[in-house]
Amino acid sequence: MRFVYSPLHLGHDIRTQTILGVQVAANEVAERAETIRSTLLADRGFEAVVPATHGPEPITAVHDPGLLRFLEEAWDEAVRQGHPYDFLAPETITNAAATEGMPASARREATKIDGRAGYWALDTSTYILEGTYAAARAAVDVALTTVDLVLGGERAAYGLCRPPGHHAARGMYGGFCYFNNAAIAAEAVARATGEHVSILDVDFHHGNGTEQIFWRRGDVLYVSLHAHPDRQYPYLLGWEDEGGEGDGAGANLNIPLPAGTDDEAYLAALDRGLARIADEPGDVVVVSLGFDTYGKDPIGDFALTTPVYHECGRRTAALGKRLVILQEGGYHVGDLGENARAWLRGAEGRRYQRSRAG
Ligand SMILES: [Zn+2]
Repeated sequence: MRFVYSPLHLGHDIRTQTILGVQVAANEVAERAETIRSTLLADRGFEAVVPATHGPEPITAVHDPGLLRFLEEAWDEAVRQGHPYDFLAPETITNAAATEGMPASARREATKIDGRAGYWALDTSTYILEGTYAAARAAVDVALTTVDLVLGGERAAYGLCRPPGHHAARGMYGGFCYFNNAAIAAEAVARATGEHVSILDVDFHHGNGTEQIFWRRGDVLYVSLHAHPDRQYPYLLGWEDEGGEGDGAGANLNIPLPAGTDDEAYLAALDRGLARIADEPGDVVVVSLGFDTYGKDPIGDFALTTPVYHECGRRTAALGKRLVILQEGGYHVGDLGENARAWLRGAEGRRYQRSRAG
């Protein structure tokens, strides 16, 4: 299988994050993408491809142009304003209730960067650094080049996106995500083919951004298996009764799962999601592939093992549709490469044995 990788992610060199108000060591680190890349290259069954630049239009096809402008300008603006840290996080978040009952124009994008960031941010844990914008743009190009490979005839291709994307909504970044790589890819497929597109999101977390972007779209099906929002991030979307509206009614399927979900229970849930996708017209599935479902993941609370990822990949490919596979989360850096290798070998119908190095 060919996989798309850009070294520009290395400039998004996150060392710390703020969770529950406390600054701690970062989870979404550069080593994540590097270990996946080196594990795939050591397998010898994967070939690395350099992404082509695709410009801003595919981004603004799903995102507010203001979000693109903000992310492009944010770091330079922070430097100009004398920002005292080597990362930018908002001081205030523009909660909708702040201007409740007032005209829409009362909700302004602040001038001071500390507040301006909060106009676009979901949380305070998604830092903007000097290299963040270039890395986020490269991750989009990785996703779109993966689309190009699949529309060019490959049965499946893998985009090693970093930073991830599925928490980014039309006008919001957060959850370690800046641009929604999977949504941008799905929209690119829809526009190029004129066919329905399905998105299968198997990251541990609900892809609130992807759901929001396609909420009223009947031609893009979103299916997500994730930790129940009653107990896990992002807490605000991901319940079973969110089915979409308007043209999108019935084109959103959430399958929230309990803590401790094991291989067997997960495969049963996956089969339910795949059955829905099998019923959907269209030849392409975009997979938001996360490995924070892994039993040893420091963030997640599921109990999946490495071999089940091979079976998950195999069952997804058994749909008989073409796969645009894009990396989302997964934070057990030690086993992350092996987990990705297992899933991707499964998707290719190749046998899997854990490598000795892994
Ligand atoms: Zn996740």
